[in-house]
Amino acid sequence: MTKSAAANIRPIHDRDANVLYQHGTLAQLVPGLLEGTTTIGELLTHGDTGIGTGEGLDGELIILDGVAYKIGQSGVAEILPDDFTVPFANVHRAAFQYQCERNDIGLEDLNEKIVEANGRANTFFAVIVRGTFSFIKTRAVIKQQAPYPTLEEVADQQAMFLGHDVKGTMLGYFSPIMFNGAAVAGFHEHFLADDRSIGGHVLDAVLERGDILSQVFDTLVQHLPVDNPEYRSHDFSNDQIAEAIAKAE
Ligand SMILES: [Zn+2]
Repeated sequence: MTKSAAANIRPIHDRDANVLYQHGTLAQLVPGLLEGTTTIGELLTHGDTGIGTGEGLDGELIILDGVAYKIGQSGVAEILPDDFTVPFANVHRAAFQYQCERNDIGLEDLNEKIVEANGRANTFFAVIVRGTFSFIKTRAVIKQQAPYPTLEEVADQQAMFLGHDVKGTMLGYFSPIMFNGAAVAGFHEHFLADDRSIGGHVLDAVLERGDILSQVFDTLVQHLPVDNPEYRSHDFSNDQIAEAIAKAE
């Protein structure tokens, strides 16, 4: 290979590590556009790490090391097949940088420190917290049937799970406030215990000891379900999107 040809080739993993891929938007869930419009198999071509929800808000999803898990009403994680359908997900290719170790810290303080350490409140980034949680509180929304209700109507239909002294991984995405609606402004975090005994959408946590890693993105790829008839015809102008997201998340 000539020198000039080599200079033009950037390793694929370098380029991809800067990209956050999002299928659907959170705003779509507000009026109940909950049909699965992509699959786990498709998502895994865009990343090996991610979070999301299934069709009809079927569980809380977490993708780690290329394996997709669903935490449903039992609170226990199950591995998903490639044809499982999804209305909303964030995925990316993991290339996390070690940030620091934290001990005895609650979720709110932890999230604040992570943003501080990144110094990037206007940037999308992912964070992984691996360690022992002395307390973890998660939820999984209960799967809905079509015709689908609004996000507000299902907000009280969720199973809650509590864990103590759990070893596991919390994966979160931070979205800048100007993207509220497309995503949840601030952190959206899901959890999976190492033994898969508990997981879900994180409501509260106390980290006993853990390693914090983060990955900053400079590019958001926003993929929309343009062939979905309900999405195409829905009028979002009367949906109270910001209010509904604040209530539900
Ligand atoms: Zn969630």
